[in-house]
Amino acid sequence: MKDTGESKDQQLTVALRIRPLSDAELEEGATIIAHKVDDQMVVLLDPMEDPDDILRAHRSREKTYMFDVAFDYSATQDEVYRYTTKGLIEGLISGYNATVFAYGPTGCGKTYTMLGTDREPGIYVRTLNDLFKAIEETSDDMQYSVSMSYLEIYNEMIRDLLNPSSGFLDLREDSKGEIQVAGITEVSTINAREIMELLMKGNKQRTQEPTAANQTSSRSHAVLQVVVRQQSRCRDILQEVRFARLFMIDLAGSERASQTQNRGQRLKEGAHINRSLLALGNCINALSEKNGNKYVNYRDSKLTRLLKDSLGGNSRTVMIAHISPASLAFEDSRNTLTYADRAK
Ligand code: ADP
Ligand code: MG
Repeated sequence: MKDTGESKDQQLTVALRIRPLSDAELEEGATIIAHKVDDQMVVLLDPMEDPDDILRAHRSREKTYMFDVAFDYSATQDEVYRYTTKGLIEGLISGYNATVFAYGPTGCGKTYTMLGTDREPGIYVRTLNDLFKAIEETSDDMQYSVSMSYLEIYNEMIRDLLNPSSGFLDLREDSKGEIQVAGITEVSTINAREIMELLMKGNKQRTQEPTAANQTSSRSHAVLQVVVRQQSRCRDILQEVRFARLFMIDLAGSERASQTQNRGQRLKEGAHINRSLLALGNCINALSEKNGNKYVNYRDSKLTRLLKDSLGGNSRTVMIAHISPASLAFEDSRNTLTYADRAK
């Protein structure tokens, strides 16, 4: 990976990560059909055709997809972080909001990218670590405070993952017109190890419903909200001068409802997930229109309402789309690549 373009200074960055082939896929005899061609291009081979003929597919334009940055099995957690999210920290300290999404079908690596494991922590912990470091290194007279909240949007309802017994929470606009989650737990600055423990614990509280397609299909959006407040001291009185928010979101699986044979309750959940993902897609599309209609309807879902101040305007958005490399995942991969490619 070339070492020049760490996450660039642009409003919308779209990345694509192809996870390694899993043991289960290997056992099922899957072949690899999604390849990274270069640092920005991915090719998806049709499994009905010769899977080894990368060159031929490379020549046929409809099978290649472009991104700001593409990662495959060889990418480390640190690389994914550096080329997508790290560049947001400077803006955050200067008062600019930002949002990072992990998008893709269940099982394709969204949680791995965002939360990661104890030994291979993901974007959540790396970002918080670097944010604390950056604040320590700032030489201005500001006082900074950082707090985090971790919540779930499931079935268009909001739950506090750090305090699941608190029931469903509402979105409210505060006196400055900022959207807030009323009553959410805010944890202030702690060290990386404690953050990881909190998030791991919070993640276990995410709603998981078995469906026909996947035993642990994740139908909830997990949202880590990081708030950076800056205060300046003026004649011994502290005044809040800046407020910036970073949302890091592990989206619900994007697989189509039709594939999971949804019925009844599941169908309703699927509809809500699609609504949030659709609303999000529409928002991102509107933002990426260079000169066209920039009207963005945030009202369409809980997720987009929550993100109202953190998408568009002066905010920066990063979407990391995820796919499996396996032949069996062709349909889902094509849908994901199309959705993410469309976002640019
Ligand atoms: P999702 O959150 O999209 O449903 P997960 O993040 O849970 O998917 O990933 C599914 C499985 O694949 C997990 O066991 C995870 O550890 C593994 N996995 C995903 N991405 C990677 C990767 N880049 N490298 C190694 N293992 C991965
Ligand atoms: Mg997950």
